[in-house]
Amino acid sequence: MRFPAIENFVDGQPAGNSCERITVYSPLDGSALSTIPRSTATEVADAVSAASKAFPDWASRTPRQRAEVLFRYRSLLLQHQDELAELIHVENGKTLDEARAEIVRAIEVTEFACALPQMFAGEVLEVSPGVECRVDHVPLGVVASITPFNFPCMVPNWTIPIAIALGNAMLLKPSESVPLTAHRTAELLREAGLPHGIFSVIHGDRVTVEAICDAPQIKAITFVGSTAVAKQVYRRATGQLKRALCLGGAKNHLIVLPDAHLEQTAANVVASMAGCAGQRCMAAASMVAVGDVDRIVQRVIEIANSLVPGETLGPVISVAARERIVRYINEAEKAGARVLVDGRIRKGVGSEHGFYLGATVIDYVTPDMAIAQDEIFGPVLVILRARNVDEAIGIENSSPYGNAAAVYTQNGAIAKYIGQRASSGMIGVNIGVPVPLEPFGFGGWNESKFGVGDITGKSSVYFWTQSKKTTSRWNTEIRQGWMGH
Ligand code: NAD
Repeated sequence: MRFPAIENFVDGQPAGNSCERITVYSPLDGSALSTIPRSTATEVADAVSAASKAFPDWASRTPRQRAEVLFRYRSLLLQHQDELAELIHVENGKTLDEARAEIVRAIEVTEFACALPQMFAGEVLEVSPGVECRVDHVPLGVVASITPFNFPCMVPNWTIPIAIALGNAMLLKPSESVPLTAHRTAELLREAGLPHGIFSVIHGDRVTVEAICDAPQIKAITFVGSTAVAKQVYRRATGQLKRALCLGGAKNHLIVLPDAHLEQTAANVVASMAGCAGQRCMAAASMVAVGDVDRIVQRVIEIANSLVPGETLGPVISVAARERIVRYINEAEKAGARVLVDGRIRKGVGSEHGFYLGATVIDYVTPDMAIAQDEIFGPVLVILRARNVDEAIGIENSSPYGNAAAVYTQNGAIAKYIGQRASSGMIGVNIGVPVPLEPFGFGGWNESKFGVGDITGKSSVYFWTQSKKTTSRWNTEIRQGWMGH
């Protein structure tokens, strides 16, 4: 094993236990990296108990005092960027540049959390002579965040800084494929001065997640992962009367019009499709080619061909994921689609055993094919042909998902027409990965999200707090009025 065994991180330190162990492998070369515990309800209860004890003191601190810890955490993320990027690279497989980029996003969310004392100062209004109403955003208590493998640093940090800055105590259940970054995150938060118990990491899989959903003291849960599991977690958590926000999978459509800028569009489409080996919920899955855009398709092919697995393109997360993706490509080809760039035949440079798949471009895919409907989650772009803009919108609208959609054109009116009709929560105009930055929130529609509001940005503040409304009268004079005197 390249790393020592990873334990849960509870009450400010690694917590030994006698759980069954899960082995973690590196997608870069298939080697065993470490092991983690498959935590059960007992380990979850221990973390909840430490969090419950730590919560009252943390919640009673001023927002500014809490933000001071987050300021130090931000500096530590910056200071340890290279070390964290290496951990992400090794456990997730993405390139070092991609790993650094996700740390930058974690830093940006942390900066938003640092600004919360100024942005959410509460509201007060004199509603009647001498009578004022005041609203405070009060933390919920112990909360939990369940995260996927594809962004070991960014996705946990969509929730950690904001929930903690608002006064909650958080349990993180990272993906069992990427526990190293989560463990280091806990160490950095401790180094930043976060009191013990306010942030815990509980490793495991389905059993662990179910124990989190069922733990009575956990008040709110966010989940990010596949749609099938998002639905299960949403049902189970809300069935236990918890607040839940569950983000699921995606199938994003990029609608390309004949007047689109050739070089920018082709480069952007490929970057969206192949970045992080296509394992992004914001990745381009389908390019909807409207009319004659063959010059752009030609350039997409050239750029996709230039990507080198093992150098500019990371592996996918597991052997099983690679096999599943290849099955989809084989089936599409059998059904009559044309594989223009074939990633199945590419090997990873420098690694025989890595889970590599080259960038793949498949043209003349039809909407009824499984590869056009299902989330593939690999470096695969399918091209669907549409005769006009409304047909392209129809293709986008028929997807059960609704994370992101983008349009490539130089015509503002058409971009607006498509943006207004796309059935997705995040729209790009000449941008293939339209991630809204703070203070805007991240969140899709339809089967890409269950629950109200977005996971980051302003609306996340309402998710992680409850509002307390206080009505006070400060004048001593007795008055008749709506208060009934
Ligand atoms: P996943 O659903 O397999 O796992 C996500 C988390 O759920 C992990 O922590 C895992 O341990 C746990 N889990 C797995 N199976 C479970 C079960 N049956 N019951 C309870 N918990 C379970 O997802 P993944 O493969 O890690 O991540 C990829 C998926 O995440 C893709 O579908 C991708 O689109 C999605 N994703 C979505 C967003 C978004 O913002 N919408 C962001 C990132 C990733």
